[in-house]
Amino acid sequence: MLKGKAAVVTGSTSGIGLGIARALAAQGAAVMLNGFGEGKEIAGLIEGLERVSGAKAAHHPADMTKPAEIARLVADAEKEFGSVDVLVNNAGIQHVAPIEDFSPEKWDAVLAVNLSSSFHSIRAALPGMKKRGWGRVVNVASAHGLVASAQKAAYVAAKHGLVGLTKVVALETAATGVTCNAICPGWVLTPLVQKQIDALAARHRMTLEDAKAKLLAEKQPSLDFATPEQIGGIAVFLCSPAADQIRGASLSVDGGWTAQ
Ligand code: NAD
Repeated sequence: MLKGKAAVVTGSTSGIGLGIARALAAQGAAVMLNGFGEGKEIAGLIEGLERVSGAKAAHHPADMTKPAEIARLVADAEKEFGSVDVLVNNAGIQHVAPIEDFSPEKWDAVLAVNLSSSFHSIRAALPGMKKRGWGRVVNVASAHGLVASAQKAAYVAAKHGLVGLTKVVALETAATGVTCNAICPGWVLTPLVQKQIDALAARHRMTLEDAKAKLLAEKQPSLDFATPEQIGGIAVFLCSPAADQIRGASLSVDGGWTAQ
């Protein structure tokens, strides 16, 4: 379905981003990975993507807190692949603390990676998409883009902001072949969530298995994690012709979290 098309997936050396990159590659897309990691490991990821897609893959080291580097990521991907047809804004970080103890530096960092980076990348990628008359912007928000949890001030503010940004971009592109939507996952077992499970286990002196069960029971009625592969499948769906008229939507993939 995506043969001849090229995708940029931010924060795709791990977790959900990697799941999305693999799902897009499986549809034939050339993929530009981005994110931190060891050179050797990243080379292995690129090789794997090229094997499934039959197209090129590459990695760009842009730091998603730096506007100039984000612009360069999009420009370099356009140069390397000839276009950026699919932009997935996925890079994200978490910091957990009550607001009185929340360091301003952490607030700035979470806002920069989880919200502002999407503004910068969309700004850079949209002109090319509009010129070619087709494009897909997929923003990985969160259940925390729709509802809140205590101790996650910056994350919840950033993800609510990302849902808002998604709607604005969808309206500004409504009469074009470019769509912009958000995916709002609940708990997905990735390194980002593993850190929270480890902290929960240490705080309550419980096993990791018990901490996982507690984490799910607090929020996710299905009592099961969503997987990076499932989120990848939703991203592919949003790139399909069936999704041409889905614009400005937030698709929950959260085991019922936000239905409560
Ligand atoms: P992860 O920690 O496994 O992956 C994060 C990725 O972002 C990595 O590739 C990392 O290198 C990259 N990254 C971090 N800071 C960066 C920076 N400054 N510049 C460039 N790359 C950077 O996390 P994940 O769980 O896969 O999360 C991916 C996205 O999904 C995030 O936006 C997160 O908020 C969102 N999300 C995750 C969950 C979950 O349960 N895991 C739930 C809802 C939403």
